[in-house]
Formats: sequence, structure tokens, C-alpha cells
Amino acid sequence: MAKYDYLIVGAGLFGAVFAHEVSKKGKKCLVIDKRQHIAGNIYTENIAGINVHKYGAHIFHTSNKEVWNYVNSFVEFNRFTNSPIANHKGRLFNLPFNMNTFYQLWGVKTPEEAKKKIEKQRAEYFDIKEPRNLEEQALVLGGRDIYEKLIKGYTEKQWGRPATQIPAFIIRRLPFRYTFDNNYFNDIYQGIPIGGYTKLIENLLDGVEVRTGENYFDRKYDFDNLAKKIVYTGKIDEFYECQFGELEYRSLYFENELLNMPDFQGNAVVNYTDREVPYTRIIEHKHFEFGTQDKTYITREYPHEFSKDNEPYYPINDQKNQLVLSKYQELARKQTKVVFCGRLAEYKYYDMHQVVAKALELSKKVQNNG
Ligand code: FAD
Ligand code: UDP
Repeated sequence: MAKYDYLIVGAGLFGAVFAHEVSKKGKKCLVIDKRQHIAGNIYTENIAGINVHKYGAHIFHTSNKEVWNYVNSFVEFNRFTNSPIANHKGRLFNLPFNMNTFYQLWGVKTPEEAKKKIEKQRAEYFDIKEPRNLEEQALVLGGRDIYEKLIKGYTEKQWGRPATQIPAFIIRRLPFRYTFDNNYFNDIYQGIPIGGYTKLIENLLDGVEVRTGENYFDRKYDFDNLAKKIVYTGKIDEFYECQFGELEYRSLYFENELLNMPDFQGNAVVNYTDREVPYTRIIEHKHFEFGTQDKTYITREYPHEFSKDNEPYYPINDQKNQLVLSKYQELARKQTKVVFCGRLAEYKYYDMHQVVAKALELSKKVQNNG
């Protein structure tokens, strides 16, 4: 007899929400994670009184009221609104692309003037009807000035390939608006958990059996026999021993510094959009929570090739990888015991709110005990 109803591989956001919800329904769960800690990529660690986002900066944003109320029922969120600054060759611009940016680029002061300027630039690309890649999409959206100063360099560093080889949907993540509004997201709700994301996951996993430092593949046979069902949130190609080839990812290298000064850059996020600066952004973590400490903690984010020695942060959803993925998905559909969920197992550029929504959706299909 299996000891658990569910083995959940991965103590990240997906695993934690699912484990919480089905435990409420009386299911016995075991959550394992190969890392030494819970929370997956949203793990935060308190350093010098500052909640440091150890695997990259995370801002929670959503327009889904159910998801917002759900996360707020585990931890209170602050009123942080992400408004990154772009540094291009030493000149500063507001992001996302809005009236402040257009004023800084061209001196235009009204939406009408800005629209005229952008229409003129877009006209060069009138023959691009269906943008086939990120470069074409960016040129059609905002024209050459914006593309060359704020997008091309950042994008090519971030993805390690020409913008012509990157899917168009990636640039559509960013708002483009004719108001003086520096909010990086269009969503209704936004904020950062007070006390850090780890607290959110701790609260979700309260009362659930969790073992960290356990790699599923080290004892797959034993783990498989422990539970009736498996929710797997690791890499899908790894599950199938990469039999159709490896899926590609983009990784990151984080260079951290604790500085003996109260404020380094005056903002949580500063993007470096030219090619010459080797990192894409500097995160100053205290600004996510309006910190007033004497010290500050910063992280330079360097994009990196993915290998066995670093983390798979971003799926590369180009045609080549989608084709490989579809072969794994065909095998996954035939599995009756295992479901593949979350950013790695679905190989999707999911944000946190989407992961919460997906985990809630899956858990709703689980019957109550008794
Ligand atoms: P993960 O957090 O990756 O959890 C999967 C877990 O499975 C990991 O802990 C891993 O160790 C474990 N695991 C894998 N294989 C095994 C195995 N074999 N055995 C045991 N355990 C295993 N989203 C936002 O909404 N806003 C943001 O601002 C934002 N910023 C981001 C910045 C960066 C740099 C990155 C990379 C992502 C960002 N995201 C953001 C996305 C967000 O991180 C994800 O949506 C979310 O964390 C995914 O949760 P998950 O549970 O699917 O995956
Ligand atoms: N991007 C850009 N310039 C910027 C910020 C983003 O060109 O200053 C592009 C880049 O291609 C990036 C994509 O927009 O990969 C999505 O940006 P987002 O900030 O959503 O990326 P994430 O926070 O997920 O790394």
C-alpha cells in the first residue's frame, strides 16, 4: 500500500499551493526538493535585515482576484509597484515604454506628439504584417529608436542570441502606453509579501511533510512506490532521461554585494540596455520593501549559458525547442500516475500568478476524502 496519496516533486510555488490545497481535502502528501530549502525560485533569505531574492527579483502581479485574495490569505503584501529605470550608455529612461520614456527620448510632451513620432518610425516597417520574431515585433510596436536604445542590447544579452531568433511574444510582456505611468505591469493588483516570499511558502506548507535535499532521480523507484500519484514540477526532459534531446534554457549568474551605504541606486531595478555592460540589471533588494537600513544589498544579474552546473531559469520557447517539447508532452499524456506542472515541467514562461492559478485549478479536480 502506498504511504502517501501524493508525492510532490518540487517545493516551489506550484508544489506548495497544490500540497496545501489537497492536504485540506484530507490527502496525505510528501513534498521533496533537491535544494536545501523550500520556495523554489521565489526563495528569499534575510541578509542584514533585508529580504534578498536569491534567484532573481520577483514582483507579484495579477488581475485575477481569486489568486490575489488567495496569496494574501497566507501573507500580507506591501504596495510595491515595479518601475524600473533603463540605463543606456549612461543616460536614464523610465520603463516600461510610456510618455516619460518618449519625453526622455524625443522631448515630446503630449500623447499626440508621441503618437506622431512613433507612427513615423513605425511606417518604415509597414510591410511586416505578422511579426515572426522579437526584433520584428519590437520594431512594429515602437520603431527603431526604442528598439535600438532600450530593447536590442538587453534582449541579445539576456537570451544569448540575435533578437531575430527570439519569439515575438516575449516583448509583448511589456506594456506600451501613452500616459505618464511607469508601472511595469498592467495588472490590477501588485506587491511583495511582507517578510519575504519564503514566508508565503512556509505558511502554505505548514503541516505538510517536506524533505529538502532530496533529488527524485536519486531514489526514483522508492519514491514512485511511496505514493499513489505524483505531481512533478522538475524539468520534463530530465524525467524522460532526455531521450529526445535536451530542452534549452537560459541561465543567470548572480553577483551579490552587501554595501556599507544606505542607498546604491535609488530604485529596486535598474536595467542596463546596451550591449557593452555585461549584466542586464542591478537589483537593490531593500527597495522592494521600502527598507531604511544603514546597509544595502545589490545583485548584478549576468545572463549565462545553461549547463548541468547552473539553474534552468528561462525556457527558450523557439520552434526547435517546442518541437522537442511536443515529443515529451506526447509521452506525458500517456502517464496515468504522474502530472507535469509548473514552469519547468510545462516548459512555459509562467509568472507566479499563473502558477498559482494552475495549481488551484488542478487541486479543484481532486476529490475530498470521505
Ligand atoms: P520552481 O520555483 O522552479 O520550483 C521547482 C522546484 O522543483 C525547484 O525548487 C527545484 O529545486 C525542484 N526540483 C526540480 N527537479 C527536482 C528533482 N529532480 N528532485 C527534487 N526537486 C526537484 N514571476 C512573477 O510573477 N514576477 C516576477 O517578477 C518574476 N521574476 C522572475 C525572475 C526570474 C529571474 C525568474 C527565473 C523567474 C521569475 N518569475 C517571476 C517566475 C517565477 O519564478 C515562476 O513563475 C515560479 O517561481 C514557478 O514556480 P514553480 O513551482 O513552477 O517552479
Ligand atoms: N526587455 C528589454 N529591455 C528591458 C527589459 C526587457 O528589451 O529593459 C525585453 C527582453 O527581451 C526581456 C523581455 O523584454 O527578456 C521580457 O522582460 P521581463 O522584464 O518581463 O523579463 P523577466 O523579468 O522575466 O526577466
